Amino acid sequence: MSCTPAIHPCVNCGACCHTYRVEFPVYELKSMGGSVPDALTHTVNGNRVRMNGTAQFPVRCHALTGGLGVESICSIYEQRSSTCRNFDFDSDRCHEARARHGLPPPQPNDPILPLAA
Ligand code: SF4
Ligand code: SF4
Repeated sequence: MSCTPAIHPCVNCGACCHTYRVEFPVYELKSMGGSVPDALTHTVNGNRVRMNGTAQFPVRCHALTGGLGVESICSIYEQRSSTCRNFDFDSDRCHEARARHGLPPPQPNDPILPLAA
């Protein structure tokens, strides 16, 4: 019997990274003692920074690899900002982002496995 490896539904999505403006406090930058690579961000004001690619249309965070709905992976998953860490899978905002890109809410039987090994 063969089986198909299960993947997290986010890998077949990435809609949130193609929808929202991603801002966070400047102290989350690597240069400030945080984790987010500075080169992937730009300054909003003295206290806040934003992920490149998330402030113009079409939105696409520069940290994202793959395509919308296809092997969509955050290249800085372990270093991502609190804004991204606090974004809830299967939340209203998750559903809104998916709907904007023609995707239904995650299905009850979708496999839910951690993205990080
Ligand atoms: S919109 Fe929801 S399902 Fe899609 S990548 Fe973001 S959290 Fe995952
Ligand atoms: S940093 Fe990663 S999780 Fe956050 S918007 Fe960009 S690709 Fe998505």
